[in-house]
Amino acid sequence: MDNVPYKTYLTENELPDAWYNVRADMKKKPAPLLNPATLKPVTAEELEHVFCKECVRQELDNDTPFIPIPDAVRDFYRMYRPSPLVRAYFLEKALGTPAKIYYKFEGNNTSGSHKLNSAIAQAYYAKAQGLTDVTTETGAGQWGTALSMGSAFFGLKCHVYMVKCSYEQKPFRREVMRTYGADVTPSPSMTTDIGRLINQEHPGTTGSLGCAISEAVETALKLPNARYLLGSVLNQVCLHQSIIGLETKAALDKLGVKPDVIIGCAGGGSNLAGLMAPFMGEKLRGENDYRIIAIEPASCPSLTRGRYAYDFCDTGRVCPLAKMYTLGANFIPSASHAGGLRYHGMSSLISELYDQKMLEAKSVEQSKVFEAATLFARTEGTLPAPESSHAIRAAIDEALRCKEEGREETIVFGLTGTGYFDMTAYAKFNDGEMGDVIPTDEDLAAGFALLPKV
Ligand SMILES: *Cc1c(COP(=O)(O)O)cnc(C)c1O
Repeated sequence: MDNVPYKTYLTENELPDAWYNVRADMKKKPAPLLNPATLKPVTAEELEHVFCKECVRQELDNDTPFIPIPDAVRDFYRMYRPSPLVRAYFLEKALGTPAKIYYKFEGNNTSGSHKLNSAIAQAYYAKAQGLTDVTTETGAGQWGTALSMGSAFFGLKCHVYMVKCSYEQKPFRREVMRTYGADVTPSPSMTTDIGRLINQEHPGTTGSLGCAISEAVETALKLPNARYLLGSVLNQVCLHQSIIGLETKAALDKLGVKPDVIIGCAGGGSNLAGLMAPFMGEKLRGENDYRIIAIEPASCPSLTRGRYAYDFCDTGRVCPLAKMYTLGANFIPSASHAGGLRYHGMSSLISELYDQKMLEAKSVEQSKVFEAATLFARTEGTLPAPESSHAIRAAIDEALRCKEEGREETIVFGLTGTGYFDMTAYAKFNDGEMGDVIPTDEDLAAGFALLPKV
């Protein structure tokens, strides 16, 4: 054991006062969103029908490196940030590795994940614009919970469309959201045109994120004073999540530690984008080099097996087209998939950096993910979210490689959340009933065939 403390906290006053916009340091920027009718880049005015004004400004700003965090948001951050950077001494010991493992823990708030970092910012901008209502979708439930919290804090009514299978599997998640004042509707519902259509075309469907997004956007457009807020994928969300990386970098600098490997799980890409941001900035500016790795489920492998193409962000095709690594907007992972990270595409920011070979991507099978989750829970104490456990799996694999090669590398990963509401998935694993269903090339080809011709 060396003399690095178990936990490194920054003080409240060391909380960053601006988010870092990594796009400012990219020579080739992420591809713009396109209007699906004209195939031209969407204008701010078009986006402002759906999203808050300030969020649109941040979405389209590829040039400003630092964007100030409003005082009201920073004050909310003070209640649960800075989050700890933890040295995983007990995991290292269990693995017998010479590697040094650190994780940035984002589960220390009621939403149980990093999503609150962007939810509180987006709710603030919605309120500042004079809106009364916000709408969104949620899959596993963390984003819906985070936005319910943000909405309650700033006095907004929050309408959440929750993917039906989660709604049924996680009644307590729904109850947390209702406690914060949100109304929660299982999706596809009969309350929207697109929901009714999807129910008619696919009777008995248990829903998908793409479908819930369409319902939430439709509702935002129909309510008099509402906008739609999204919890991942978009540039603005990646921007807000940079708080994770800025704090991580500041804490490591305090310790005098330079990481070799930075690992994040990747669903829509926002926590990884946030964790890696200042490190990627140094890499883009040629000041330093790091291995940065995105980890995704083998059953939903958008980066490792998807196409880099323009695609629809939602099933109902009401959102702009985004250029991203995608499995096709109709892709739904096998029903046996339990580990989250089930979005069909990847943020344009992560996609473009991956295409530029600035980061690596790996996919992992869910039984291996839950093995890693269990080892982590038993050694480090915290019950990890299945999503986060993808990053744990990869960190363990890198640490075992270090053991084999006798290398003392420093590995940092994002522990994005806790798994208290994921016990159905853990139960499957504990009962030995967790299978790995990996899509075949034919399965994927069916999705690629439906990509829009741009
Ligand atoms: C939503 C979520 C993720 C994945 O989302 P990203 O946008 O890829 O970060 C990962 N972990 C947890 C705990 C989540 O709630």
